[in-house]
Amino acid sequence: MTVRVPAKVNLHLAVGDVRKDGFHELTTVFQSLSLTDEVTVAVAEDPGVEVQGEGASAVPTNGANLAWRAVEELARHVGRDLAELKVRVLIRKGIPVSGGMAGGSADAAATLVGLANLWKLEIGRDELAGIAANLGSDVPFMLHGGTALGTGRGEAIVPVLSRHTFHWVLAFARGGLATPKVYGELDRLRLEGEPPRVGEVEPVLEALASGEPHRLAQLLGNDLQAAAVSLRPGLRRTLRAGVAAGALAGTVSGSGPTCAFLCADADDALRVAAELSGAGVCRTVRVVHGPVPGARVIGGDDEP
Ligand code: ATP
Repeated sequence: MTVRVPAKVNLHLAVGDVRKDGFHELTTVFQSLSLTDEVTVAVAEDPGVEVQGEGASAVPTNGANLAWRAVEELARHVGRDLAELKVRVLIRKGIPVSGGMAGGSADAAATLVGLANLWKLEIGRDELAGIAANLGSDVPFMLHGGTALGTGRGEAIVPVLSRHTFHWVLAFARGGLATPKVYGELDRLRLEGEPPRVGEVEPVLEALASGEPHRLAQLLGNDLQAAAVSLRPGLRRTLRAGVAAGALAGTVSGSGPTCAFLCADADDALRVAAELSGAGVCRTVRVVHGPVPGARVIGGDDEP
């Protein structure tokens, strides 16, 4: 059973106060992009996880892998014996690891969808979303895909009307950034001064509904950007280079270090990618579009 699952970019990420449970209160708008991981789940005598592709060597293959945590969480939910789990998970990574694009969460969501099919579970999307939320803040959105407003830790998802397709260029960095470190840096910057904060989310939702990339470009914003740039000053150059290459605007994706550049149309995205890849400001570039659907079985029966 193979599931394809997209990466996400945050079009808007407002980081509020730290809650009693240690998480920050978020208001975010996610969009899923045509950059994907593929996760195959199969019955096997030697249970475990295998990882191939983009950044595979940095991904754990033990119980720390979010995909394996998804196996255990779903098994627990349906009362299967954890000691008897005859499941093998193969992850083919296209999403950069520790890139701010929620690759691990994507794999967890894909594993939930794949296993629910493999085990022929009578389980609805809402129930699956509840299990997903226990695995991580971004996991429910990765099930859902499209464009959505996330609140709470980001796990409470409401679909957002988004007209047309948006065209993006992604700049992958060398090495990743650990999400907790970026939040820590933001906390530090806020103790020291007033790093910029994004505005209200409503205009972003209106721009999405209009489908006009020029309008959306002016409103892209991410409170984590100052922290990511503080930890990785080179990102400032990358962001400038994307705009100089003709993108409408650029933003750090989530906790970074991937930068996402919104372009006027598909042709512009190709031109921006060509120029950016020659500018020496990133490891590699990708042209993608969004929104796309969330975790989906490929080449088999669809949803559980
Ligand atoms: P986010 O934006 O959700 O905070 P990210 O996209 O920056 O996360 P991920 O690639 O999702 O980063 O994961 C980062 C960490 O999680 C890495 O330290 C990695 O070793 C670990 N990890 C666990 N499972 C996975 C997985 N299936 N794929 C990628 N990383 C994983």
